[in-house]
Amino acid sequence: MSITDNIKAIKNEIESVAVKLVAVSKTKPNEDILEAYNAGQRIFGENQVQEMLEKYEALPKDIQWHLVGHLQSNKVKYIAPFISLIHGVDSLKLLIEINKQALKNNRVIDCLLQIYIADEETKFGLGFDEAIELLESQEFTALKNIRIVGLMGIATNSENPKQIKEEFYELQTLFKGIKSSYFRNEDSFKELSMGMSADYSIAIEQGSTLVRIGSDIFGSRLVG
Ligand SMILES: *Cc1c(COP(=O)(O)O)cnc(C)c1O
Repeated sequence: MSITDNIKAIKNEIESVAVKLVAVSKTKPNEDILEAYNAGQRIFGENQVQEMLEKYEALPKDIQWHLVGHLQSNKVKYIAPFISLIHGVDSLKLLIEINKQALKNNRVIDCLLQIYIADEETKFGLGFDEAIELLESQEFTALKNIRIVGLMGIATNSENPKQIKEEFYELQTLFKGIKSSYFRNEDSFKELSMGMSADYSIAIEQGSTLVRIGSDIFGSRLVG
């Protein structure tokens, strides 16, 4: 199967249920991204700022770039002029920096709060209580150049579909709770970014609106 075939097959599967595809192109060359682009894909995800910058410079300007990995505060300034969505926001400090750089660029930057749902030590993210605390803080309310459009989570890398389903279910429940408590009147709070190559079908059953798929499109990665 070519990249074109993979894109078409996945889009066919997910667009019928109104789920959007983030094609995660980290470590992959520009020619692979262009093949996906020519198959109609416009949203691409990267997890390294430097790599995203190089690709942004070289590739068509109507690509919407999503940062899917952990973002360090000191790198926000490089992506602030063009980033379409930041998936991995996991602290107020980072949000304050994104707001500052967005203001400098005269923009409002869309962000997802990354919530910790996995049964693993290595994953970044906010606990449920920390997310609520952030949303209720005065510092957060004062930020006018960021917009929280939803939540993101990464399930445990597990062979057990029941466990993955439960983790996505918990995130969906939190999403609904946060929506009704803090964003009831904001239509823009609507994205639930969950699901990768191995678990996106389960994620869609649990209400995902954005799936982040790399290896099922571009083939396996040696690193990253
Ligand atoms: C790499 C990555 C993906 C894509 O993973 P695949 O298993 O290749 O689909 C999705 N989300 C994040 C946060 C990633 O870092």
